[in-house]
Amino acid sequence: MPDYRQLEKDFLELLKEQKAYQEALALIQWDLRTKIPPKGVDQRSEVIGFLSQKVFQITTSEKMKMYIDSLKGKASNPIIQRSLEECEEEYNRNRKIPEVEFKEFTMLQSKSETLWQEAREKGDFAQLQPYLEKLIEYNKKFAEYWGYEKNRYDALLHVYEPGVTTELLDEVFPALRRSLAGLLKKITASERKPDSTILQKHFPKQAQETFSLEILKRMGYDFAAGRLDETIHPFAIAINPRDVRVTTRYDESDFRMAIFGTIHEGGHALYEQNIDQAMAQTPLADGTSMGIHESQSLFWENFVARSEAFWENHYSLFKHIAPDEFDDIPFSDFYCAVNEVKPSLIRIEADELTYCLHIMVRYELEKALINDEIEVRDLPELWNQKMEDYLGIRPQSDREGVLQDIHWAAGDFGYFPSYALGYMYAAQFHQKLETTLDVESAIKSGNFAAIKNWLGENIHQYGKLKKPLEILQDVTGEGLNPEFLVEHLQSKYARIYQF
Ligand code: ZN
Repeated sequence: MPDYRQLEKDFLELLKEQKAYQEALALIQWDLRTKIPPKGVDQRSEVIGFLSQKVFQITTSEKMKMYIDSLKGKASNPIIQRSLEECEEEYNRNRKIPEVEFKEFTMLQSKSETLWQEAREKGDFAQLQPYLEKLIEYNKKFAEYWGYEKNRYDALLHVYEPGVTTELLDEVFPALRRSLAGLLKKITASERKPDSTILQKHFPKQAQETFSLEILKRMGYDFAAGRLDETIHPFAIAINPRDVRVTTRYDESDFRMAIFGTIHEGGHALYEQNIDQAMAQTPLADGTSMGIHESQSLFWENFVARSEAFWENHYSLFKHIAPDEFDDIPFSDFYCAVNEVKPSLIRIEADELTYCLHIMVRYELEKALINDEIEVRDLPELWNQKMEDYLGIRPQSDREGVLQDIHWAAGDFGYFPSYALGYMYAAQFHQKLETTLDVESAIKSGNFAAIKNWLGENIHQYGKLKKPLEILQDVTGEGLNPEFLVEHLQSKYARIYQF
């Protein structure tokens, strides 16, 4: 009989080796997006390629396969068992694609990403079209290799949101869309028109940073296990659970970018910082899915930082830090302005209410592409039509339409739904937390420890030990339910827009 305990030890050693390469890669990623001098980029790209290959080799190695086969079902604890399952999933995902095809796909991806920037600038969809067609062909092939039960799109969805199916989304999204459309109609008809232009006053970078740092501190972000830096595209990155960094971008004529952005990324970072240290050197030291990750950033951004209770406490601090020009803005004008609803063409500029509608446009189109129901050449027109149907506005160019996001050009299909799922998960968690804590008073007090601890205990500590829908079920006692998001938006906007 094999010595299982020894095999386990060896398996954990292999995971450590894999983590070492991944940690180096993460640190390089952070450096690449924040600090690297331009001339350093070329060689660094080679280093990334080299290290990524090492990770790929480990995850697809015969040694890995041997550990999976010998230890699965015989592991001495749940962390090892789940790690084996994760490794098996990754092994299969990578091994099922013929090496030549994977290589061709990666090359196509990087060419297409570069081309996308140019095509977007010019609003020239035709330039990108042949690349998109090929990338979709590859995605369809990969989905076939990976397998699925009912819908080819499920295989892609699984990569980002395991357990969530096309069937579930087709049930939930239309219901959510109808409710959002109803709310949007009431808001548009309202005579109350919050004016966000009152927020666009000069606000020096240094002062924005002071405020952002203070809020991060209050959220319980551990600065001994992280740091805040400046970048063009803000992100949070876990180098390891005790080194989780946040970046932000300062716009001196609109503080919302930095302040809400930092809080959003801070929410992602809290998740990673509070994963059980026992899993630090395993593949479980990561958010369980894109959707659950997004639920954590949105929880802090929308349910905490865009709430009336939050500003009741923090408006005086804000005014103290902000320049004098902000002094004459009455509290209610300020609060309503940061929550203005206004259908817009660009997803990343969308408000809390219309954001999910942007996602549905993308979801429906990419699902249809993967299932051969529409042609790539018809995308711009279909996109514009859906924008008009769902948001009541029509892009005048593909630059502000189908070309705005990098995802498809980068070959990523199946990713978009996670954003909308994050909104729904966040609302469900929030509702559950309210049954055990007076959330509004906690937010108003400016002491977020109880909120942070609850999220840590119920969600963060598990990392990938639980699957997304498992966490949702364990925390809330039910599956995906859009009603809580609708209720939250209904009660918030009924007050702001007085309907
Ligand atoms: Zn996010």
